Amino acid sequence: MKKWMLCSLGLWMATLGYAESGRVFTLTTAGDVAPGLKANARAYLQDNSGVVVEAAADLEVDVSRPLDEIGREAAEAMEDSSFAVIVLARPTEERPQGVCLPHEHFAVLNIAKLEAAGDPAKLSRRIGQEGLRVMAMLLDMSPCPFPLCVLVGYDKPEELDQMSGNFCPPCRDRFARLSAEKGLRMLSEGDEIVLSE
Ligand SMILES: [Zn+2]
Repeated sequence: MKKWMLCSLGLWMATLGYAESGRVFTLTTAGDVAPGLKANARAYLQDNSGVVVEAAADLEVDVSRPLDEIGREAAEAMEDSSFAVIVLARPTEERPQGVCLPHEHFAVLNIAKLEAAGDPAKLSRRIGQEGLRVMAMLLDMSPCPFPLCVLVGYDKPEELDQMSGNFCPPCRDRFARLSAEKGLRMLSEGDEIVLSE
């Protein structure tokens, strides 16, 4: 009985220590991105990935530059506690849908390509889905063949609306295992998740 109590206390302390340390995903923006979009994306990503996503100050960068340059600048501005940075960018010029370079620890999503005819809820969901996809890529996960998984391949942004908003159970397990291997901070029950309107 006593032994069990000691053991469980040890586990509890280990859990506490773990919750307070570890690296995190960082979320930032570049260009004209509404603050609510960043807040919603952060909540969506934390809720569906199970790891901590911290919001950083908006990046002050020339958004007419190529996406990889924007991402590199964001990665340089990261704190040591950041594992990788995800930039929600609204470029001023025609740019690809996004760029994700796992070995450089950044991803940039061009949210202009995800616009849904003025439907903010749809745009938020698409950003959340693409955010999960790049988080998985940043952990070197591969696409998933299972149709009910957010990691399945697609061609046009409109297809995201018919797709799952989350990982399938095996991908979720894989994500959790890789996150632990990389020393990422897991979301604990006390971490607040608030969706802004
Ligand atoms: Zn999957």
